[in-house]
Amino acid sequence: MTDRYCVIGNPIGHSKSPRIHALFAKQTGQDLSYEAILVPSDGFAEAIRAFIAAKGGPARGANVTVPFKEEAFRLATRRTARAEAAGAVNTLSFDAGTIVGDNTDGAGLVRDLKHNLGCDPAGRRILLLGAGGAARGVILPLLLENPTELVIANRTEETAARLALEFSRLPGCAVAVKPDGTGFGRLAGRAFDLVINATSAGLSNAVLPLPTSVFAPRCVAYEMVYGRETAFMVQARDAGARVGDGLGMLVEQAAEAFFVWRGVRPQTAPVLSALKGNP
Ligand code: NDP
Repeated sequence: MTDRYCVIGNPIGHSKSPRIHALFAKQTGQDLSYEAILVPSDGFAEAIRAFIAAKGGPARGANVTVPFKEEAFRLATRRTARAEAAGAVNTLSFDAGTIVGDNTDGAGLVRDLKHNLGCDPAGRRILLLGAGGAARGVILPLLLENPTELVIANRTEETAARLALEFSRLPGCAVAVKPDGTGFGRLAGRAFDLVINATSAGLSNAVLPLPTSVFAPRCVAYEMVYGRETAFMVQARDAGARVGDGLGMLVEQAAEAFFVWRGVRPQTAPVLSALKGNP
């Protein structure tokens, strides 16, 4: 019987996850199916139950995307430490009545930075822009890489301050750096080696009020949005930064989910090339 997986979200038509997981399955010889399911905003839990109960092979897992990651967190009967830290779940595993919630977004970002972009966060001054779900999911994985500094800047300054405070108290975690939370207006004169845009400003091509000083010499600028050249990417490139977009993070978080489900780590480079060659 073929194991069944899916990605659930709204909207979902644009999702590249079915294609990515089909390529992973082919490459690793795993027998599985993976479908995209569009769910109304009030229908997430019901959709998961229906997917688990559906006929065919056993339902083994689901990826969860906007706007259901917090609801998936609440639905999980058990959660991994990284899901707890993120406060959101993007990967569910189903096993004998248990629903395990995990979050692979942070691991995906860190792998993309280190393995695809040659940018090790260790020893770097990091500026994280945004304080929404995507930012929250990557803070702990970034802190665990031992940067020298992590500043979270957000349009709504209080949200950044709250997030920084929350991640300053991490009992049981070997984290040397305490993040700082601030507003864009307070970044003048400050410089960073890695600037990560985790805002959704790029989706509306809004320009962030960032001083050029934030891009230190040899800075890497990372845009989580993919598939378009955003105002942030243009600004960073003009300031001399090396620029990456979020396609690699998408593929790497999928590979991490595949590993969680199947115990096999797929090669991501050929999949990334395939997506870049034929978006
Ligand atoms: P949320 O809605 O949770 O948060 C949005 C964030 O963007 C908030 O911090 C918000 O600030 C800020 N923001 C929105 N518009 C503007 C603007 N015009 N100027 C300045 N700040 C703005 O979204 P997510 O955190 O879930 O997602 C953020 C982005 O990351 C999305 O574009 C998403 O596509 C991308 N993403 C990419 C992934 C990948 O694999 N590549 C994975 C996950 C996310 P405020 O608090 O002031 O409202």
